[in-house]
Amino acid sequence: MNKFDIIIIGGGLGGLLCANVLSKEGFNVCVIEKNKKQGGSIQSFAKNKTIFNTGLNYTEGLGEGEILHKYFKFFNIIDKLKIKRMDIDAFERISFDDDDAEYPFAQGYDNFVDKLSTHFPDERNNLLRYIADMKNVCSSFPLYTLENTDEISGKTDILNISAYNYLTKLSDNNKLNNILAGMSSLYAGDKNNTPMYIHSLINYTFIKSAWRIIDGGSYMVSIISKEIKNNGGTILLNKKVQTIGGKNKAEFVRLDSGEKIFADKIISNIHPKNTLNLVDDNINKSAFKTRIDSLENSIGMFSVYIVLKKNQFPYLNYNHHHFKYVNTWTTDYLINEWPEHYMLYTPANSNSDKWANGIIIITYMKYDEVKKWEKTYTEQRGEDYLEFKTKKAEKLLDFVEKKFPGLRSKIKCYYTSTPLTYRDYTGTPNGSAYGIIKKYNNPVSTIIKPKTRIENLYFTGQNLNMHGILGVSIGAVLTCAEIVGYNYLIKKIKDIF
Ligand SMILES: Cc1cc2nc3c(=O)[nH]c(=O)nc-3n(C[C@H](O)[C@H](O)[C@H](O)COP(=O)(O)OP(=O)(O)OC[C@H]3O[C@@H](n4cnc5c(N)ncnc54)[C@H](O)[C@@H]3O)c2cc1C
Repeated sequence: MNKFDIIIIGGGLGGLLCANVLSKEGFNVCVIEKNKKQGGSIQSFAKNKTIFNTGLNYTEGLGEGEILHKYFKFFNIIDKLKIKRMDIDAFERISFDDDDAEYPFAQGYDNFVDKLSTHFPDERNNLLRYIADMKNVCSSFPLYTLENTDEISGKTDILNISAYNYLTKLSDNNKLNNILAGMSSLYAGDKNNTPMYIHSLINYTFIKSAWRIIDGGSYMVSIISKEIKNNGGTILLNKKVQTIGGKNKAEFVRLDSGEKIFADKIISNIHPKNTLNLVDDNINKSAFKTRIDSLENSIGMFSVYIVLKKNQFPYLNYNHHHFKYVNTWTTDYLINEWPEHYMLYTPANSNSDKWANGIIIITYMKYDEVKKWEKTYTEQRGEDYLEFKTKKAEKLLDFVEKKFPGLRSKIKCYYTSTPLTYRDYTGTPNGSAYGIIKKYNNPVSTIIKPKTRIENLYFTGQNLNMHGILGVSIGAVLTCAEIVGYNYLIKKIKDIF
């Protein structure tokens, strides 16, 4: 068949969730994915019988009645997922070189305040204020609460608050203010740009509840894909979209094989800049393209995936964020100071609760560090690139070993990835981890709307409102709402609970 109701370009989480919702609504949908497996950033891979996640370490709000639980129930995937709640009293531990303490992020708002107050007894009132302020910010986003859903977008005065400015003024205690930004690698927290609403939507929902998906993101991808197929949808793999064409509106895509597939509507799950690059020149896009091209993207990541020797390193039911200095805003690191930070975690596996079979360590990496190989492709970048990666991994491991002495003796082997790996795998510009940077001083232009200025063409995915599992799920609902109607879709979601 070469005609569908809806084509979805890209089978990342955003594309798959749109396909799930729209196929259930009776549309004949077709997801077109360039890789041999769908899933994009939430895909996991196996090395030496060890499953590693690429962009799904943990997620928030999956407790009964909580926000992501509601959306996952609507997507009909919640009951099929294997999930594991992280440590109630410390799902995150934050530490610094200058201090042996490990500062906990506990789940539950009172518990969070209690546990941090044991380290900062004079700061209890500031911590209570922090939670109340985040609650206030989040309640301005109807789709993050599913309350007051007749308003679609947040109040603009909330969008203009800087996370860094807010946190530096919260208390006179610089260490506490930095600890509260200790999860900033989850949103590439940047002193000059990150809005308080991004910090709040992430921190407030994770503090409510934090979960690992057992056995990796691929398992979740297979559940969503099965739903799509059960609803009659199609997923085409190993097919790259090269052009979006039509007579002054989006009417078809052309694949790298030359095949042309038509649709009434086209949703792009790929980066907006890349999407507009695919649009044929005979479709008028110039002003829109100039605006999208001008938007900056977040920094990328360097990851080390460690295969452990059997029964040597415990499964940690928390993430560890360690910092060289009392500065948790490290996107703008100096290259000779790298790494200033890492996040370390052990993926949950169904074989053992006691022992980990792998460790993932993530830290920022500027694109400039890998730019000299930008014209190369995965597995063919040459010896000097391999040497670069090993040198970086060893430097990172030296830093980690200080906090986890003896770790090296437990390593069977390790693999690495750089921003170039992400660029080639998902197509994200310069290997950006989270896509378009949201800016508190220019919020409206950095929030991308699902309906584009090109007739029949829509966006979905992490570049809309927010990245992450929750952000992309809400983005998929927003995109589908443009097609089936906002009030109709929200009512359907609310009718489920
Ligand atoms: C290192 C890292 C860790 C993360 N950890 C977490 C976490 O713990 N929790 C959390 O909630 N979020 C996390 N995230 C964020 C989360 O993974 C992403 O926000 C989310 O998966 C993005 O989904 P997406 O659908 O927008 O895009 P993508 O996953 O990028 O999907 C885009 C898809 O489009 C395909 N594609 C591209 N070009 C074409 C083309 N021309 N034709 C056909 N197909 C094409 C790609 O192959 C890809 O499959 C992490 C991200 C990173 C990078």
